[in-house]
Amino acid sequence: MPQNYSKLQDAQLSAIKTATEANGKKPSLLLHACCAPCSSYVLELLSSFFDISIYYYNPNIYPEAEYTRRLSELETFLETTERSHFFEAQPALIHTDYNPDDFFQATRVQDEPELKTESERGERCRRCYYFRMKKAYEYAAANGFDYFTTTLSISPFKDAEKINTIGRQLKDEIPSDVEYLYADFKKKNGFLRSLEISKEFGLYRQEYCGCIFSLQNGLISRQTK
Ligand code: SF4
Repeated sequence: MPQNYSKLQDAQLSAIKTATEANGKKPSLLLHACCAPCSSYVLELLSSFFDISIYYYNPNIYPEAEYTRRLSELETFLETTERSHFFEAQPALIHTDYNPDDFFQATRVQDEPELKTESERGERCRRCYYFRMKKAYEYAAANGFDYFTTTLSISPFKDAEKINTIGRQLKDEIPSDVEYLYADFKKKNGFLRSLEISKEFGLYRQEYCGCIFSLQNGLISRQTK
């Protein structure tokens, strides 16, 4: 039966607040992030609870110019919001080199071509969530973070059940002290708030999720309107 991941997160945040008040130190959080608009509300929500570092690992994005544009927009957003005191402290931003082969290997779309025409929320997307979250989890474990989560659930097109199932499973697959922070960031008007912040800061909002297939499907649907 599907869980209410927003409520699970509320309970975690309440316990974290109590612990921080007792010991005077915020826990660290590695936040996997896909772009500036999706990060905006998540950072606003979580920055008082955590010492946040952002992990931009998204080799699913096509083409490379789009990958670079989303990364650059995230960097600019963090610098601009730092000046406007949007956060208590500007998050560190960690990113990897662009390697689209990671996406094709992880999703195995070349072996299973039927996945190329799936709409969002299908098996291609589940594999795409998994390999990016796994990489972030491994980084969090190797670098001593207390918590990790991802911005992905803020999108109304993303499957929060699949995302949170992956988050829970990673700890079983790769034992470490890193805790998964449950999330369904679109809830409690989170998605709407991300639109407001994007407008306020003039953020670039992309018209497709990221991979070449979402670009092709998006173009097809726009052409048939
Ligand atoms: S539509 Fe988005 S989540 Fe799904 S495979 Fe493409 S980039 Fe990944």
